[in-house]
Amino acid sequence: MITRQTTCQSASGVLENRTAMRLLVVEDEPDLLAGLVRALRKQGYAVDTAVEGEDGLYKAQSIDYDAIVLDVMLPGLDGWQVLSRLRESKPTPVLMLTARDSSADRVRGLDTGADDYLVKPFDSAELFARLRALIRRSAQQTRSFIEIGEVRIDTASRTVTRLNQPVTLTAREYVVLEYLALHRGELVTRTDLYEHLFDENESTLSNILDVHVFNLRKKLGQDFIVTRRGHGYCIE
Ligand code: CA
Repeated sequence: MITRQTTCQSASGVLENRTAMRLLVVEDEPDLLAGLVRALRKQGYAVDTAVEGEDGLYKAQSIDYDAIVLDVMLPGLDGWQVLSRLRESKPTPVLMLTARDSSADRVRGLDTGADDYLVKPFDSAELFARLRALIRRSAQQTRSFIEIGEVRIDTASRTVTRLNQPVTLTAREYVVLEYLALHRGELVTRTDLYEHLFDENESTLSNILDVHVFNLRKKLGQDFIVTRRGHGYCIE
């Protein structure tokens, strides 16, 4: 069990252990892209998209994604080129989608700095599992359970119990809770949450975050998440 911390420090410089929930999917096949985005959003991820290599590389360099799903065969820069240029500056976890199941491709992918790959066609459940593993690895979060007081979060199955009773959360409530829980004892700013949990189509001016926190408090206890007025939230 992880011991509870008692103070919320400033979040600056203490985010290296963050989990993450904002993904980039680079895929030029419209049907596959739409299906992937729909499925990943349903899992609670914020998902940005690119349909060609240059745009994908630009987004991957400018935004700190938690993981990137990168198709190999793309117009313009292909997936290999995107990956090798990205690796000049960033270690963002990358899962390659390849149409060919040749060991040469796999070796090339791993040599270029891919963290994992999946051969098309693939099962979405397998994609989700691999993404969760990638994100956990990169967050050095090898535990699959987080226990805070009477609340237990299973990050592998994405389920929550309170006093051993299951708590039903929406996908978004879950990711907000998991993010705060992985940063327990730290002040998490609203900006952090919007950057990591919401995608480019959601306005930071909306009150969507307040609604999720309100619902989480109803389900987990009013004091479970502390508001630092004007700064953000904290689980102590
Ligand atoms: Ca393609």
